[in-house]
Amino acid sequence: MNAMPATPPLLDPAVVRPDFPVLAREVHGKPLVYLDSANTGQKPRAVIEAVDAYYSQYNANVARAVHALGEEATTAYEGARDTLAKFLGANSRDELVFTSGTTHAINLVAYSYALPRLQPGDSILVTTMEHHANIVPWQLVCERTGATLKVAPINEAGELLVERFVELLTPDVKLAAFTHVSNVLGTINPVRELAKACRERGIASLIDGSQAAPHLPLDVKSIGCDFYAVTGHKMAGPTGTGVLWARAEHLEAMPPFFGGGDMIRKVRFSGTVFADPPHKFEAGTPNIAGFIGLGAAAEYLSGLGMARIDATEHALLEYATDALKQVPGLRIFGEAAHKAAVISFLIDGVQSHDMATMLDLEGVAVRSGHHCAHPLMDFYGVPATARASMAFYNTREEIDRFVEALTKVRKLLA
Ligand code: PLP
Repeated sequence: MNAMPATPPLLDPAVVRPDFPVLAREVHGKPLVYLDSANTGQKPRAVIEAVDAYYSQYNANVARAVHALGEEATTAYEGARDTLAKFLGANSRDELVFTSGTTHAINLVAYSYALPRLQPGDSILVTTMEHHANIVPWQLVCERTGATLKVAPINEAGELLVERFVELLTPDVKLAAFTHVSNVLGTINPVRELAKACRERGIASLIDGSQAAPHLPLDVKSIGCDFYAVTGHKMAGPTGTGVLWARAEHLEAMPPFFGGGDMIRKVRFSGTVFADPPHKFEAGTPNIAGFIGLGAAAEYLSGLGMARIDATEHALLEYATDALKQVPGLRIFGEAAHKAAVISFLIDGVQSHDMATMLDLEGVAVRSGHHCAHPLMDFYGVPATARASMAFYNTREEIDRFVEALTKVRKLLA
């Protein structure tokens, strides 16, 4: 019999919070309560210092210069690829393409992998809970090829109907694209099961890992998907960074998406020989400082331990959910059995933007709007929600302050 894995010890906010300089600031004269980490995560000093060190000590272009600074920059930049390969559980560093974020990563797969393969009558399968970044690129390639987009439904709790998903994996489906964790509902999808169902039918799978990478231990090999996309700024790294992990055979077969310097082996007017993956997909000067910072972010998160981060955030989620349920007239969207620390909600009679604006005056940062998920808003029949998204650096005291502020706002607005 398999023993249940023991819950790892929770992280101590008194130890981790000083790593994040921004958390010490005030907003409108009140201490900041940052509950918008699903939008973008705060950056630890280790990341800020890694970016600063590149610009102040060895700023140079990568893979071009033989001088000392060029070598140091290249070593640090490619070292970040090694760190991220380990962080994601890749077989090899060459399976990681550096991108500007998940949006870029998904577009790369849409244009380089899907577009050449799609024909009229083919389909791409997505789910109701996708971010626009995992819908619009597929719509664009479908329009160009005559393929269609199919949608796997969810239930009221915000859980994917797995049986329906599997039923929809018919031979016309060439690729299934689904999120690991919903940015709106926090739902954690059973990605291993979904990827397995795809693989058994010879269908490629792409996972949007934007909201999973900052919070859950990851191992793309054991998930068994074909493509896994992450965005750096949500996982404690700089903006404008991201990673597409792909099986080596796909990267070998895919044509480049952008052309230019650094992605070639030889250029003649008669034709160009491309570099090997992943450089074949990385034309032009990259966001060098950003990726060095992203490597530092992955090291920082791994140093804390992803299992500890997950457990710490889960405890916060339970605490916040219980507290919010005490607020009269408050409705939570998405109550999946497996959930990350994201809570979307509305209060009867209160506009989400008004609520977020009033909370900001209390020093509490939450997001309001459609969260780049119009189809999901349509599913729930609302134009927008407010969303509190937590990270391991949040505290129970902050949740108390948030709920207190919410109660005050409700009295004023409802
Ligand atoms: N997918 C999900 C689930 C997201 O939450 C986001 C960011 O909001 C994205 C994709 C897009 O990420 P980026 O804008 O960094 O490319």
